[in-house]
Amino acid sequence: MDQIECVVIGAGVVGLAVARALAARGREVIVLEAAEAIGTSTSSRNSEVIHAGLYYPRGSLKATLCVRGREMLYEYCASRNVTHARCGKLLVATAANQIPQLEAIRARGKENGVFDLTRISGSEALSLEPALECVAAVYSPQTGIVDSHQLMLALQGDAERDGAVIALKSPVESIDALGSGFTVRTGGDAPIDIRATCVVNSAGLHATKLAKRIRGLDARHVPPFYLARGNYFSVSGRVPFSRLIYPMPNDAGLGVHLTLDLGGQARFGPDVEWIDAVDYDVDPRRADSFYAQIRTYWPALPDGALQPAYAGIRPKLSGPGEPAADFMIQGAASHGVRGLVNLFGIESPGLTASLAIAQRVCEMASFD
Ligand SMILES: Cc1cc2nc3c(=O)[nH]c(=O)nc-3n(C[C@H](O)[C@H](O)[C@H](O)COP(=O)(O)OP(=O)(O)OC[C@H]3O[C@@H](n4cnc5c(N)ncnc54)[C@H](O)[C@@H]3O)c2cc1C
Repeated sequence: MDQIECVVIGAGVVGLAVARALAARGREVIVLEAAEAIGTSTSSRNSEVIHAGLYYPRGSLKATLCVRGREMLYEYCASRNVTHARCGKLLVATAANQIPQLEAIRARGKENGVFDLTRISGSEALSLEPALECVAAVYSPQTGIVDSHQLMLALQGDAERDGAVIALKSPVESIDALGSGFTVRTGGDAPIDIRATCVVNSAGLHATKLAKRIRGLDARHVPPFYLARGNYFSVSGRVPFSRLIYPMPNDAGLGVHLTLDLGGQARFGPDVEWIDAVDYDVDPRRADSFYAQIRTYWPALPDGALQPAYAGIRPKLSGPGEPAADFMIQGAASHGVRGLVNLFGIESPGLTASLAIAQRVCEMASFD
């Protein structure tokens, strides 16, 4: 049986960032990934936005790790030539009754340490983005976009340079934590058992299912879990915007916003569709609701411009109608299993926060 210090489960952006951080600290690391390639799940099915940190309650992990992670990410992208742009974002109120919510988000951003938000009038917003319609806006200069696949390749490269091994097609089926350390059992073409002193469960949409298969972890530490698909529609041709445009957020998401990729192509999304099983098909009939939502801030969106693009699925710890849950990063202090770190509910802003999450995991992990 192979013996290693640390097993990281999942090669999404968070698992790769954790592997990189552990390997940089001199730890032996193997990343076990079920799929044939890195980053095929949520990490490549999102808006690729580097969030400033406006929305999340003060002191929450989402707020703290987003603000810290954003700065770490900009620095990392610059140092590793990962394509990104600090393009800025306008958060818009499209009716007077949304202004209190706009103000509340600006105040919350300030509480979270985002001090450069500017409140502007509808006409000032129009002078920045002439195709926009709104009555007031908040401008966030620190919001940006990143090529998430390049980011993951850079993280993988760093981790491998420092000795980490990424094993693809290696689905973890069970973990035994009853003795000292762990026995991690994989399935797939070449099943193996690995002995480890530290296990990081970064399996995204499957993290809770996997946690239920850890012998020695009390089931009461595994939270309830829900899936919320976010569908995206693309637009043919160029759109007349150079910044990201966000409406007011709703209960389960940030609202159908305009994001731009690094080639300047536009996409709108994600909406919120509660689902029971992982399924990435975008129903073209959802376009009707997209037209209605987008036209509240871009009335000139032409008929027939939207095409179904792709979907991502949020690993949510709160269900329909419940207040948004925070990230859950569980170490031995909460579940009592020495050496185990579970990452649950790593939805947005998990891409932005990935490097800060990795730093936190390293602080929590133990190796003896
Ligand atoms: C619609 C949408 C939009 C978003 N937009 C943004 C945004 O603009 N900005 C932002 O900061 N964040 C955004 N996010 C959040 C961000 O995408 C995620 O937080 C981040 O990608 C999570 O990365 P991860 O590594 O935890 O999970 P994943 O990318 O899902 O990786 C988990 C990996 O674990 C593997 N795995 C699962 N089970 C096993 C197993 N048993 N054995 C081995 N491997 C396994 C999977 O194959 C997968 O590769 C968005 C999310 C969604 C859904």
